Amino acid sequence: MYQALYRKYRPKTFDEVIGQEHITTTLTHQIESGNISHAYLFTGSRGTGKTSTAKIFAKAINCLNPINGSPCGDCRVCKALSQENNLDIVEIDAASNNRVDEVRDIREKVKFLPVEAKYKVYIIDEVHMLTESAFNALLKTLEEPPSHIVFILATTDVQKLPTTIISRCMRFDFHLLSDLTLKKHLKHIFSLENIECEDDALTQIVKSAQGSVRDMLSIADGIVAFSNGKIKSEDVSKILGTTDYDTNLKIIESISEKNIGIALSLLDGVEKSGKNMNVVAKDLTQCVRDLIVAKTCPDAKDMLSFTQEIFEKYTDVCSKIDLDKLLQFMKIFSSMITELKFALSPKTLLESAIIDCTLNEKKN
Ligand SMILES: [Zn+2]
Repeated sequence: MYQALYRKYRPKTFDEVIGQEHITTTLTHQIESGNISHAYLFTGSRGTGKTSTAKIFAKAINCLNPINGSPCGDCRVCKALSQENNLDIVEIDAASNNRVDEVRDIREKVKFLPVEAKYKVYIIDEVHMLTESAFNALLKTLEEPPSHIVFILATTDVQKLPTTIISRCMRFDFHLLSDLTLKKHLKHIFSLENIECEDDALTQIVKSAQGSVRDMLSIADGIVAFSNGKIKSEDVSKILGTTDYDTNLKIIESISEKNIGIALSLLDGVEKSGKNMNVVAKDLTQCVRDLIVAKTCPDAKDMLSFTQEIFEKYTDVCSKIDLDKLLQFMKIFSSMITELKFALSPKTLLESAIIDCTLNEKKN
């Protein structure tokens, strides 16, 4: 049976957590020294590894023979904690259990000792969704946690947490992953799975994930299911509804040369090929951003993780456009993206942004 890549490659040790070394190093040190806090706060965007890290940590602090700070996966406790219905790692999704009763229930239950393990671990996902009274109840438990209890609070929106909760926790900020890191990871997984994929196609998948491992792997899943044999760049464009690099570059180049007619007819062609104009708007904005990176950053090639061929196209185009112009385009496209949500016709908005770019452009 086909198992989704995201599930299959969910990390089981700290070494397998991608791109969050600043966190995993500290956590492994704590495990090796036995210096465990009672409350942790994991913040960061979706799909950056918060819940996976929480689960690894929950096992690692209980494992009988941790290996380099990670759970061995083999001892009696690791095996017991891997069972879905174990009572010692309790996962709560605050988005659906946000009422005060649920938290009171935790307060009652924390008195009981763990069944198999040394620590009982509560992982509360999307903790910012708790109601005010639920937070107050949680705070009481955090103020005097029994010594056998560890809380891991995870959130994508730390701003919404009361400072009284934040100040009780040891905080870790999960970062979005760079394209380079994501690409390496995807390449590795595809090679393990014997999946062939063009390098440009890899880059497209990575870019559309916008820093999230989970998004990247679920996009990859969709594409693997669609493709027959080697994954090609065209397949990825079809599935994601994205425009190809050449067309994007041609549109931007025409704008910079004030060729409104050409830019608009290219856009029209893109629409007729069935692309969603919202996605096209984002693609064009991304293209301008990538041109700015190519023009200004010494390590642009790594940052953009394009193939040599595409990278050369970008450097060629950006060498012909002044930085001022590109920044101007970026400004106009960014404000267009905010307006898109309310637009009746994304295409008209996109067209007027294109015209704006040529009008506002500074004279040299
Ligand atoms: Zn173990």
